Amino acid sequence: MVQADLHLDTPTQVVRKQVGLGDDVLEASLGRMRAGGTNLATMVLWPPQKVAGGWEAHVERLLAAMETQDAALAEVELVRSPEQARASIAAGRVAMLYALEGAHGIDKLGVEGLRRLHARGLALLGLTWSFSNRFAGSSADGGGGLTPAGEELVDAAQRMGVLVDVSHASKATTLEVCARAKAPVIASHSDAGAVHAHARNLSDEEIACIARTGGVIGLNLHRPFLGKPGDVTAIAAHAEHLRAVGGVGVVALGSDFDGMITPPVGLPHAGHLGQVWEELHRRGWSDEEIRGVRGENFLRAWSAALGGASP
Ligand SMILES: [Zn+2]
Repeated sequence: MVQADLHLDTPTQVVRKQVGLGDDVLEASLGRMRAGGTNLATMVLWPPQKVAGGWEAHVERLLAAMETQDAALAEVELVRSPEQARASIAAGRVAMLYALEGAHGIDKLGVEGLRRLHARGLALLGLTWSFSNRFAGSSADGGGGLTPAGEELVDAAQRMGVLVDVSHASKATTLEVCARAKAPVIASHSDAGAVHAHARNLSDEEIACIARTGGVIGLNLHRPFLGKPGDVTAIAAHAEHLRAVGGVGVVALGSDFDGMITPPVGLPHAGHLGQVWEELHRRGWSDEEIRGVRGENFLRAWSAALGGASP
């Protein structure tokens, strides 16, 4: 069974706390991921808005730290495709892919920066974080849509087979990305605004447009995004709304563990994710639907993105 988590800020904590992936100081340590069933881990490269030495250098630090972990630990493996992910998981490993959280991380080099990160395994490109950048508007500061540089970046990512991620993006950005998309668009870690109103959550219009591209939306476990009661039933309520608006194929998981979140009540780390699937089962979701949410929906989107890539 493939279980993908589309958003883990674990690299930030690996660097900040100077620990390895095996250390349970991490919410998504290897042991905790295994206990909770996660075997396809999206490791996020996040450059803070203010960081000494600049955004690109910080991304390099995070990536280098993860490459060190990958080299040191036999039980993790960078994978470049759904096929490699399945093989790695079948061999008992935790498969890992990289995401950039905010195109400010390639602020200077733009498409060339994306190409360089892609060569080292980048699979997901988040356009923005909590501030608008030279490519796209953010949901946090009333930013607009894609700039011409942003349009060029989105098109280049899709030609490379890199999934474009609109979590944190403004509504205008999300709708524009969906409208020009030639590959599935994802929101790696976002919940439903109709269930709990929050600037970081998605409107039904955004959910529907992401679904139309064949993309997925990863349920975010940060309690302020989930709303009350902030436990596994709140997670399920968001899942059911995403399913109602976008179809069951749109639902995925992007926990945001290790991202300084307030985790759900009773779900303090990745080791407890089994509760989410139990709750969906209790609500009558079929085994096939739950398999989709756990990993198959994401693999379908990733496969489609790679299938459309030009060499
Ligand atoms: Zn985030």
